[in-house]
Amino acid sequence: MPIAPSPSRVVLVAVLVVLLGSCAGPGNAPAAAPSLAPPASPAASAAASTVPPVAPSTPARPGTFPIPAGATIVVDPGHNGRNGPGSGIDRPVPDGRGGTKPCNTTGASSAEGYPEHAFTWAVSQDLAQRLRARGYRVVLARDSDDGVGPCVDVRGEAGARAHAAAVISVHADGGPTSGHGFHVLYSSPPLNPAQRGPARALADAAVTAMRGAGFTPATYIGRGGLDARGDIAGLNLASVPSVLVECANLRNPADAALARSPQGQQRLAEALAAAVG
Ligand code: ZN
Repeated sequence: MPIAPSPSRVVLVAVLVVLLGSCAGPGNAPAAAPSLAPPASPAASAAASTVPPVAPSTPARPGTFPIPAGATIVVDPGHNGRNGPGSGIDRPVPDGRGGTKPCNTTGASSAEGYPEHAFTWAVSQDLAQRLRARGYRVVLARDSDDGVGPCVDVRGEAGARAHAAAVISVHADGGPTSGHGFHVLYSSPPLNPAQRGPARALADAAVTAMRGAGFTPATYIGRGGLDARGDIAGLNLASVPSVLVECANLRNPADAALARSPQGQQRLAEALAAAVG
């Protein structure tokens, strides 16, 4: 049996007819009918607004710098084996802030003569292997340990040339004998969007990974393992997120022993690899 319309429903329909008639004049498109769906609950609205438009296939591990598998990472082993007198290694190149820096240097060495270039080469080889095993494409900034250069400005632009998601430059320091520990350098004040936040995030992730692996933040420089710097050409010239990690202080006997031991090099490479996730 049909149900007779109630008086209130008749009034509502009449009001709608009047409203629609007033909007649908010549040249006016009819107004869109209001949605009849019930409003979303506050909880549902909040959930919808926090869901990313495209979910990552593999969630980044907390504290890491997120880089998807398949992306390119530049690993830069600092210095080189033939960077010495007569190699022309000290010719000036742009420093990225309007000045110049020497093309490169011979690097630091331990009291016993263990050179920084050999350390950076060993750790970088291991780091590259670990990253490749996780599906990253790795480009090394130099391809041997018995050459000259490349200059710091060329290294600084290596990330952009390789279309890399990040650059990790591996070094060891020549600090005061009494000081020990690692520090992570990033460009500051920033000169471009990659330096404005992502480079700091990469530096934070590197510090977290190094501390998590049991390494001590430097006791003689930086703050808590972080070192904001404006004088590093390779970082100034970088237009992708880049950090320079001084893994240890070669002038400190305990740090030098760590840096030259295969076990120490492996632990450092493992820690640096853990910075990206
Ligand atoms: Zn160095």
